[in-house]
Amino acid sequence: MEAAQLSKLMKECGIVGAGGAGFPAYAKLEREVKTVILNCAECEPLFSLHGQLLGARPYEVLSAFHELGGALGAERKVVALRRSYTAAAEAVREYLGLYPEMELELLDDVYPAGDETVLIYEVTHRVVPPGGLPADAEAAVFNVETVYNLYRALAYQEPVTDKLVTIGGEVEHPMTIRIPIGMPVREAAAFAGRTLVKDPVYLTGGAMMGTPAEPGEVVTRTTNAVIVLPQAHPLVQKKRKNPAIDLKRAAAACCQCSMCTDLCPRHLLGHPVDPARFMLAAACKDIQKPMIFIHTMYCSSCGLCDLYSCPQGLSPGALITEYKEGLRRAGVPLRKETPGPVNPAREYRKVPIARLAARNGLAPYLKRAPLIEGRVRAERVRIPLGGTVGIPAVPTVRPGDTAERGQVIARPAQGLSTAVHASVSGRILEVNHEFVMIEAVRKDVHTDE
Ligand code: SF4
Ligand code: SF4
Repeated sequence: MEAAQLSKLMKECGIVGAGGAGFPAYAKLEREVKTVILNCAECEPLFSLHGQLLGARPYEVLSAFHELGGALGAERKVVALRRSYTAAAEAVREYLGLYPEMELELLDDVYPAGDETVLIYEVTHRVVPPGGLPADAEAAVFNVETVYNLYRALAYQEPVTDKLVTIGGEVEHPMTIRIPIGMPVREAAAFAGRTLVKDPVYLTGGAMMGTPAEPGEVVTRTTNAVIVLPQAHPLVQKKRKNPAIDLKRAAAACCQCSMCTDLCPRHLLGHPVDPARFMLAAACKDIQKPMIFIHTMYCSSCGLCDLYSCPQGLSPGALITEYKEGLRRAGVPLRKETPGPVNPAREYRKVPIARLAARNGLAPYLKRAPLIEGRVRAERVRIPLGGTVGIPAVPTVRPGDTAERGQVIARPAQGLSTAVHASVSGRILEVNHEFVMIEAVRKDVHTDE
């Protein structure tokens, strides 16, 4: 299929990156690339969604990945898989005969191997420039669930109405389950059985990059996991810190050991972000070298400096994210820069996922969360019209209307935007520029695929 046709299909079916910032996937088809990568490196502790999906649906994922590679004119189509995903590797190898041009590359179980910039370097040895796009390194990356969603669009014209979510932590039966988009996070977590702690915290988006869910927060097209933790868990405490206090602690306790910079995955690739220098400048309110602050925009917010590197338990990453967001709000443009040389010690500074989990009190939760593909029933959903990246879609329904599951409820806006679809059949209760709320009718019951 031509890139333009595929791009139109992805836009109409609401396919965004299923995880991370939810970048509208069709926009990655604008430029031809040399290498297209299927990202199955998922490196957040407790995640295993992509590995399980690839193991269960290898033909579906690889056939859609083949289409993508063809549309992008890619010379290399690389399935990048965590080395420990042996079942998925076996499943992929069985089908590689159908696609002889495809390669399987096994990656170490390290964090953050799934970050696009890191993954592209691992596969191509080219660095995406700071402020640039993967296409600048002639590469495009799609994760497994995004590609599986494309398969469903290609094979059945099925839009994105649900999300595979791993429910883990303090729950009776950790599992990975297909949740209708817009279902409240707490309701979704209840499918994994009883919560084992009183007054739990629901961490969405992963232990490293996620945040405690707000009351009423819903599952979106990018929610990969809901991790249930006790209030007193160190990870929860760390994520609740206050930037003003973090800054005071930086002034009092940062010994300038530089561990945060030495292990920073972006710094190691020659990007100019430098958390140690930033901590000194921020703590001393020293603005003589403003580029130290401007370069915070190149931080990926991976959280490694906060949750692994700093021996003092300080929060350079959280403070950098605070500055970065301030610059974005102030309209400071993200400029593309030439990266410096890749640090030759990079190879020896990779952080094993198991060690990261142990350091953050997550080792007891490293349990199997088996994939259950049946879709669950929702009573009421609040479907977001946009994501972190892109422009919210424009509603096409009004309160009182009825909608069938899969029907368009918002059309793409001008610019970077995708359509949004009803995740349940039912009656529209509320519509505004942020979401559409639907009350399900009884016929929207549990269905097995
Ligand atoms: S690792 Fe911690 S103490 Fe060391 S320079 Fe970075 S913030 Fe300061
Ligand atoms: S969060 Fe810290 S380690 Fe991660 S990219 Fe930003 S500065 Fe580097």
